Amino acid sequence: MNINEIVVISGKGGTGKTTLTASLIPYLKNLVVADCDVDAPDLDILLDPQIRSTHKFVGLKKAVIDKTRCIKCGLCEKHCKFFAISKDIVLSQSKCEGCGVCEFVCPVNAISMVDAVVGELYESNTVFGDFVHARLIPGEETSGKLVAEVRKKAKALAILNHKKNIIVDGSPGIACNVISSLTGASQVIIVTESTFSGLHDLKRIYELTKKFNLKVQVVINKFDLSPYHSEMIENYCLENNITVGLKIPFTKKIVRSIVKKTIPSIGEQDFFREIGFFKFIESLIQ
Ligand code: SF4
Ligand code: SF4
Repeated sequence: MNINEIVVISGKGGTGKTTLTASLIPYLKNLVVADCDVDAPDLDILLDPQIRSTHKFVGLKKAVIDKTRCIKCGLCEKHCKFFAISKDIVLSQSKCEGCGVCEFVCPVNAISMVDAVVGELYESNTVFGDFVHARLIPGEETSGKLVAEVRKKAKALAILNHKKNIIVDGSPGIACNVISSLTGASQVIIVTESTFSGLHDLKRIYELTKKFNLKVQVVINKFDLSPYHSEMIENYCLENNITVGLKIPFTKKIVRSIVKKTIPSIGEQDFFREIGFFKFIESLIQ
């Protein structure tokens, strides 16, 4: 069974990526929803999920000191390059990078490396179907691995329940968590905005997506705030053969929907019809 996995990304946060993802959800039938913005998930605010299962997410191993064995020789503190062990041999889990050097140098085997829980993954019910989401503990750095887990779980649910579409709210930026969002996807929507930095970030993220040989569409959010920069973005897309699938004007209607914690496209169907939103949805269905 071929699953149509649509990933929504942006070169940086705050472009309207999650708002667009939420607006698409009610119209993509046969759907599993995944939130891969695990560092700052917020799709759940609009979807109001009922969590049915929670899974601990284990990242890298971290050091643990057995105080009953420790002879206070200080070797671990001396060799830890991340300043995770204090002079009085107290270990800070948040500073530990899991390199294992302290375990290696300890003369009495007082240190061991153990699995560290760095986040949680949730499977939830929503009125639109299954929703897989996750939350990484602030400061932890294994978000790429957690993104991969969220997508794996979403795909498993799609196969199990014969769902044809998966929509993924991807991570912003161009780091490993974004790469993890894109690997093996079917198509990608890049959300940008009409500013110079919007164009700059679009170029960076597009260069990244090229490596994955995916169908790409660009959505320009608040395009009417700067027609000059919107034209620059459209020219760039034209030169690179990228489809501009949708241009969204700035409107308080969308802002009001978000304040009310409702999905914008549900309450404002006339507005969304006028801007070609439903044609854009047709282009996403394979
Ligand atoms: S595992 Fe590495 S980073 Fe963590 S406490 Fe030991 S030496 Fe420091
Ligand atoms: S290296 Fe081992 S024995 Fe020495 S201070 Fe660290 S934990 Fe204690």
